[in-house]
Amino acid sequence: MREKIIFAALMTERRVRVRFAPSPTGPLHIGGVRTALYNYLFARKNGGDFVLRIEDTDQSRYVAGAEEYIFDTLKWCGLEPDESVQHGGEYGPYRQSERKASYLQYAERLVKDGYAYYAFDTSSELEKMRNDFKSEQNHTPQYDLHTRLKMRNSLSLTEEEVNKLLADKTPYVIRIKMPEQETISFNDMIRGEVHFDSSLVDDKVLLKADGMPTYHLAVVVDDYQMKISHAFRGEEWLPSAPVHILLWKYLFGIENMPQWAHFPLILGPNGKLSKRDGSKYGFPVFAMNWMDPKTNELTEGFKEKGFIPQGFINLLALLGWNDGTEKEIFSLEELIEKFSMERVHSAGAHFDYDKAKWYNQEWIKQLSIADFRLQIEKGFLPENHDESKLDKIIPLVKDRCTLLTDFTEQSSFFFKAPETLDTDSVKPKWNDAKQLFFVELIRNYELTLQWDATTLESNFKEIASVNGLKPGELMLPFRIMLVGGKFGPGVFDIADVLGKEETISRIKKALDIFSAK
Ligand code: GLU
Repeated sequence: MREKIIFAALMTERRVRVRFAPSPTGPLHIGGVRTALYNYLFARKNGGDFVLRIEDTDQSRYVAGAEEYIFDTLKWCGLEPDESVQHGGEYGPYRQSERKASYLQYAERLVKDGYAYYAFDTSSELEKMRNDFKSEQNHTPQYDLHTRLKMRNSLSLTEEEVNKLLADKTPYVIRIKMPEQETISFNDMIRGEVHFDSSLVDDKVLLKADGMPTYHLAVVVDDYQMKISHAFRGEEWLPSAPVHILLWKYLFGIENMPQWAHFPLILGPNGKLSKRDGSKYGFPVFAMNWMDPKTNELTEGFKEKGFIPQGFINLLALLGWNDGTEKEIFSLEELIEKFSMERVHSAGAHFDYDKAKWYNQEWIKQLSIADFRLQIEKGFLPENHDESKLDKIIPLVKDRCTLLTDFTEQSSFFFKAPETLDTDSVKPKWNDAKQLFFVELIRNYELTLQWDATTLESNFKEIASVNGLKPGELMLPFRIMLVGGKFGPGVFDIADVLGKEETISRIKKALDIFSAK
């Protein structure tokens, strides 16, 4: 008979305390920022605390600049932690490497209680086990109940042998001893009851030879010591959950365990969204620009690509959650009000870059002129722009921008005459009547005392009608004269901003080009 144990955290009244616990191993992928966001929303909704803990016990994977990147990203997104290395708090230190001293006692307690053991195997012995085992059995070779007694550890060696190895300061790790016949189950807030067969899980290392804990021990000890009530993380951690649940049972009691939720994967065109998808299909996967300190390779982030925080947050929130209605546009405040873990999906969430840009455009439309100006002043203004014209240009161009980077294309012709004109769209239909129309328009515009879009438009239409021409056929050439191509806001608004001299000069230059044989 299999022993079946269902572990569920006691639902006693606890202050809501959640943690976002990234490892500083590189830039934050959108999945990481979504984890931070869902934690933040849950904390704010429940009047709880949002803790940021840096999980840097694996020093070999530490990447310079990654920790700063995490803070900068959260700041840009407006997801300010309540407690962290930078914000302080009662439960610090908030960097695991600085908590090193607190883990050893727990690892030793597990050994003493028979839940863990010392393992003295060298890397070549481990390698040999993996190879031997691969050829012997049709089973993934791992350090587990099938192999542990063939290895050099405190389960296979005598007490004297173990004491001698310890006295000789032989390097060792501490491994959890996974029970042989248990079904380990727990309640996931998104997935419901989840079950694991303990015999399939390997004896994970808890404490490394350098005295540092692995993630598995550190996460449990820290969640306990930091009084975390809810532990939310990505689905990739689900296979580790049985180890964590046993550690809770052995060390701190299931009644103190946080409630778990594992967020769905974010899927790209070929399964789990990866950095490679980003470069292949030309969309960002990191929150902000990231310069790899080893290769100096720069990867563009959502921020620099021209996303605004409101759009970015909105698109992330909807990658795996909705409020049960058709509503898609949510501010951070609305998300706090509406968010619930029960409505997070368990199936993978498809990332669609066009949809992502749509969210951003909707949010750009909602920005006030002043707020939009603040955004584009952060590096999105065209070179040689004229500050004094921005207040007139922004209202014309803002809603045409899907990304902040579009502002340059949508506005640079205000500051600089186009270098090339889309003559192919004009020349085939060009004729003397049109040429004469523009000559007359120049004369009219030179004499007009009133330079505003309404006057320019009515004069334009009047001259067209006197000459028996349709204004519609003249507007496209006029646009191409001023802008260079078939884009931009209303053509009379453009002429209004350009001013008399510049408008006339562009018409003249273009006439030379259009009338050339
Ligand atoms: N340090 C883990 C990571 O980098 C966090 C997992 C967790 O939240 O428990 O994703």
